[in-house]
Amino acid sequence: MTMTPASGDGPFRCPHAGLCGGCTLMGLGYRDQLAMKQARVAALLKPFGRVEPIRGMEHPLHYRNKVHAVFAADRRGRLQAGVYQAGTHRVVPVEHCLIEDERADAILRTVLELARSFRYQPYDEDRRTGFLRHALVRAGRTETMLILVTAAPFFPNKNAFVKALLQAHPMLTTVVQNVNDRDTTLVLGRRDTVLYGKGYIEDHLCGKAFRVSPQAFYQVNSAQTEALYGLVGEMAALTGTETVLDAYCGVGTIGLTLADRCRRLTGVELNPQAVRDARINARRNGAVNALFVCGDAGRWMREQAVRGETLDVVLMDPPRSGSDEAFLDALIHMKPARVVYVSCDPETLARDLKRLTAGGYRVTRAVPVDMFPFTEHVECAVQLTRMQRQTQDGRQAKARWERKG
Ligand code: SAH
Repeated sequence: MTMTPASGDGPFRCPHAGLCGGCTLMGLGYRDQLAMKQARVAALLKPFGRVEPIRGMEHPLHYRNKVHAVFAADRRGRLQAGVYQAGTHRVVPVEHCLIEDERADAILRTVLELARSFRYQPYDEDRRTGFLRHALVRAGRTETMLILVTAAPFFPNKNAFVKALLQAHPMLTTVVQNVNDRDTTLVLGRRDTVLYGKGYIEDHLCGKAFRVSPQAFYQVNSAQTEALYGLVGEMAALTGTETVLDAYCGVGTIGLTLADRCRRLTGVELNPQAVRDARINARRNGAVNALFVCGDAGRWMREQAVRGETLDVVLMDPPRSGSDEAFLDALIHMKPARVVYVSCDPETLARDLKRLTAGGYRVTRAVPVDMFPFTEHVECAVQLTRMQRQTQDGRQAKARWERKG
């Protein structure tokens, strides 16, 4: 199978493109993809100022360090592993993917072969029968985790299965069973059992070490994550004296890469496993000035504002749905000198920037970063700087906040 492009820029050919539907920009050369993303972000952020050129990848293939397969039976009842066909619950078998880490893909192929020989049955969503639901690989630079999601806790022949897997892929450093017995479209259930190794991976970004547990969020494109965090560092412009918030912090990656450039760092994150990782990561990297809080970022921010606490710099990296009124209004009230907003959805970013600019901030830099080549998704880093004067909208936001507080 030829998977390599004729030229460095493509267009690239993927044998699964018609059915998989994951890479909606597969038909475009890489330069055209970048131009399209640039134009989209520039249009959405036009009211706030100039958008700098998008930071693209030098080698845009096989960047995804997190790889997922769902199990199903084909018409003849044979076990298959693949992806859901876009907009359906039909499973398209995918053996080689242009954007996924190739070593992770190879592990998934072995999982499928072994599962067939061990006669494991795929989980059937309609009848709620069967055993295997999903397999997930997270490939770090030196450690790799496989998560097998099963419908029931009992794992037949698990020792022999894991042993065969490890023999085929000595790069696997940990194997985890996750039990998901619920009728849900979410991949992971609540319970994890370690079948082999530590139950998490340790990865390296920007010269720091990060532990990542199965349930914690971790950026999928390591090379571009380093580029993004480098930009965040520039935009935060820390001098060593600042009190910094890392909101929506995951395992603490953004804040901890900057902890030695500020006085105090607080991270806030909703997912308890991620918070536990972040606390361990702080110790692991010697960040004695860092503190991590488990909770809703908006609620935490409002409490801080009510108590009259102050912040110098706010780093925020919310999920696709963006931030919320509670967080943004409390931020406006607290008046940090700078905000660095990292966004994976330019639409919700534009919505939130409207609120922040009305509340006395000005967008002073905006840079798209291509974290997800071949897909329509685009990441952005935006620097906002506090201005002295507030607009009418901003005064209203402040009044609204004060009434609620
Ligand atoms: N900054 C991190 C994680 C960004 S992803 C990194 O670069 O890796 C967004 C994170 O926000 C996820 O970890 C998610 O669990 C968390 N999150 C979602 N809603 C939240 C909320 N209301 N309050 C705090 N954290 C939230």
